[in-house]
Amino acid sequence: MPTSFMRIPYRDLLPPPNIIPSSASTLPGAIIALQEFFHNPPPSGLPTSTVVLTGAGLSVASGLADYRGVKGTYRVNKTHRPIYHHEFISSHETRKRYWARSFLGWTTMSMANPNSGHYAIRDLGKLGVVKGVITQNVDSFHPRAHPDIPTVELHGYLRSAVCITCRNEYPRDVFQTELARLNPVWKDFLKEAISSGALETEDPNEKRTRGVKMNADGDVEVPGAPYTTFRYPACPTCLTRPPPLADGTKGVVEVDQDGALEPISNAGILKPAVVMFGDSISPEVKHDADKAIDNAGRLLVMGTSLATYSAWRLAKRAKDRGMPIAVINMGGVRGEEAFFTDLDPNQTGGQGVRTEISTESLLPALVQAMRKPEARSRRHHHHHDAPHAVAFERTNPAEVFKDFLS
Ligand SMILES: [Zn+2]
Repeated sequence: MPTSFMRIPYRDLLPPPNIIPSSASTLPGAIIALQEFFHNPPPSGLPTSTVVLTGAGLSVASGLADYRGVKGTYRVNKTHRPIYHHEFISSHETRKRYWARSFLGWTTMSMANPNSGHYAIRDLGKLGVVKGVITQNVDSFHPRAHPDIPTVELHGYLRSAVCITCRNEYPRDVFQTELARLNPVWKDFLKEAISSGALETEDPNEKRTRGVKMNADGDVEVPGAPYTTFRYPACPTCLTRPPPLADGTKGVVEVDQDGALEPISNAGILKPAVVMFGDSISPEVKHDADKAIDNAGRLLVMGTSLATYSAWRLAKRAKDRGMPIAVINMGGVRGEEAFFTDLDPNQTGGQGVRTEISTESLLPALVQAMRKPEARSRRHHHHHDAPHAVAFERTNPAEVFKDFLS
């Protein structure tokens, strides 16, 4: 089995980083260094805009688990092993287990919202600094928080289920309703778990004592749960018209009287629209990610240890193009010394920044600092210098409502 050859990369801690410049170890120092990073013109021939590359660490402030952070899935839940793509495709039992756990996790997942880090990226976009985002996250927070900045979702998204045969996509919310209909006992269990607060607490220890383990990407583990009783529907398109398979034979899509997929089926199988472990990123998405790097003159990496090769190779590509790199991440990042080796030791941020300040405190403060010169110069032209001038300028009512509604 290929499983034995596929190891999860970097489950253990990476070495701690060197802070660059050393003044970036404090919040004010990091803000100054990053402003310089954004204002310093990139090496000649490169565009002046910045592309952002993010990972699960950015969504921790939204209440979601990451993989390698302090409370990350691989640290809190040592035995956690993700479902592999080939297992999901080939095994009905694996799919039952996946969808049962995803069914329990979806409510929390779908109620979570983008945080100040995501909105700060939106604001950096408005300031003309950030023109593109590449994310490894599957929570859709980037497109929700900044629909005007294009986002490449490197590992797909949980908001849809996709048919592995016809590639049609279905909204996850609709799919969730179907799962609830096919699994009334699980539906009751979920209701109970929600009302007891077991799925809401942010304390992983408390969750464990309540018998629930919340992992990254909306996966909930209930030890001893009878996953094998779980039922899931077929792709409605393939069910109506069984498609031909690659070998020319007609696909088999069979369901029971309630509409649950029968194990004999070899087509019309629905999968989350994410890149599972052991699967590869589509050539289109890879191309879009490369283009996002090539269209920018700087790279800002945040909330990721770049442990997955698909993300690390993008940072490498940026470095090879001569792009200055800034990294905001708690804890070490895979091969990060290489991003900063050739910097002038006296540089103060224009050539590169490395800080461990949390994105949720750093990013909003950075945006505010970057707006200030503009606000100050404008205030200069007004004689009635109202003390709320800066705050007022920030509070465009339409924007506030957009935040509330998103
Ligand atoms: Zn289908």
